[in-house]
Amino acid sequence: APARVLVSACLLGEAVRWDGSHKRLDAAVLRQWQAEGRIVGFCPECAAGLPVPRPAAEIEAGADAAAVLAGRARVVTRDGTDLSAAFVAGAEAAWQAARDAGAVAALLKDASPSCGSRCVHDGRFAGATVPGRGVAAARLAAAGLVVFAETEIEAAQRWLQAHDADSAAPDS
Ligand code: SF4
Repeated sequence: APARVLVSACLLGEAVRWDGSHKRLDAAVLRQWQAEGRIVGFCPECAAGLPVPRPAAEIEAGADAAAVLAGRARVVTRDGTDLSAAFVAGAEAAWQAARDAGAVAALLKDASPSCGSRCVHDGRFAGATVPGRGVAAARLAAAGLVVFAETEIEAAQRWLQAHDADSAAPDS
């Protein structure tokens, strides 16, 4: 069977973002994955019980997702509300969903404090980003999934096709 991919729900057109919007990705590869039954749609923040809409949250300045997962750093809103527990729970739920579905890769909305895979906001709530991962992306990567940003969907497709070919090859 084609390998499965965990995809950020907002990229599938679900209006689950903090501001109530979605980020539907209009891509032929995504439609192909849907037809192949590869996609496991998931929103870590919704899974953690955070509402839509919800206050924007960022990993605190100077920290990274690994530190949040280890309980050494926080995810906070602009007014300082600590949402770390929800973000860690959402990350764990994403990993459980991926594991249950047998997903080997993820295509995630970049720059999110949960789903960012190449960059995240810098913790100063001014729109700037820094290289880094969101909490769920870091959890999935730690579990061995190969994580791609939505801008990398063509690379994700090449990786999946190579993975499927390897899986189908007889042992020599
Ligand atoms: Fe999209 Fe991830 Fe944010 Fe949910 S947590 S709205 S899936 S970027």
